[in-house]
Amino acid sequence: MTATIIDGKAIAQELRGNIAKAAAALTKEHGIVPGLAVVLVGNDPASEVYVKSKSKAVTEAGMKSFDHKLPADTSQADLLKLIERLNADKSVHGILVQLPLPSQIDSTLVLNSIDPGKDVDGFHPVNAGRLATGQRALVPCTPVGSVILAKKIHPSLSGMDAVVIGRSNIVGKPLAQLLLAENCTVTIAHSKTKDLKDVCRRADLLFAAVGRPEMVRGDWIKPGATVIDVGINRVPGEGGKTRLVGDVNYKEALEVAGAVTPVPGGVGPMTIACVILNTLRAACASAGLPEPKV
Ligand code: NAD
Repeated sequence: MTATIIDGKAIAQELRGNIAKAAAALTKEHGIVPGLAVVLVGNDPASEVYVKSKSKAVTEAGMKSFDHKLPADTSQADLLKLIERLNADKSVHGILVQLPLPSQIDSTLVLNSIDPGKDVDGFHPVNAGRLATGQRALVPCTPVGSVILAKKIHPSLSGMDAVVIGRSNIVGKPLAQLLLAENCTVTIAHSKTKDLKDVCRRADLLFAAVGRPEMVRGDWIKPGATVIDVGINRVPGEGGKTRLVGDVNYKEALEVAGAVTPVPGGVGPMTIACVILNTLRAACASAGLPEPKV
């Protein structure tokens, strides 16, 4: 058996096209141009690449991108002042502070200082609480993108057994909440879970968000299951180069699963698309408009 490969790159491209159309309609009908402020402190090369790709996606969708690049020795007080300014700026609908922040800055304090209505990363406790209680919320981008991919295979997830490996605030927990809202029966597995392989084998939908290269083997997967691999791990490749692998052994998964996401080209591109989706959603909510349909 060979699994269907879920093409996250193509699905993200299509989503970005739909977001651009919805943003153009918002501008035409309400005079609103969604704006995203991205704050980068320091010059971590991986963060710089990520920030650039976000800014590019924002402008390609017809939105405004405001980039704030601050030196690595920026004080916490100065960063908080910038967030305060962005919170008050009417042309900014979304604020994204790139993590990790330098050690002199308390990340939780900074993230909690973002106006929850502009928190396009969905990390603010107000948004986490809104998600958990079924209210309109800004939801972390990677879990949103992961569920969109699963729904490409199963338009209704209702009643399915879903297992999420990983319980981080950024991926595992919000993903479990989204799946619960889709009427899945959800199990959250983590580093202390007993018999992880057996737990995974029960899943109709298996989401791996661990950060351990190719941990999920073929015999952990129920035949025909849909496997969404969130992991991004750098491992040594040929000629001294590094290559990216997920948390799932892709080759083995292809033999057993019904559908599987590749790494790269699966969840990664969806995360960027969902950043601009959340910017659009934040812009609509700020104007008292209903959720955009994309
Ligand atoms: P994290 O380190 O915060 O959390 C990892 C989770 O995995 C923890 O909850 C831990 O309990 C669990 N875990 C660790 N070892 C385990 C084990 N042996 N068995 C079972 N569970 C175990 O990581 P995170 O931020 O949630 O990210 C997870 C992965 O997803 C990483 O590879 C990260 O790079 C990737 N990621 C990808 C995207 C994307 O856009 N595709 C976005 C965010 C994170």
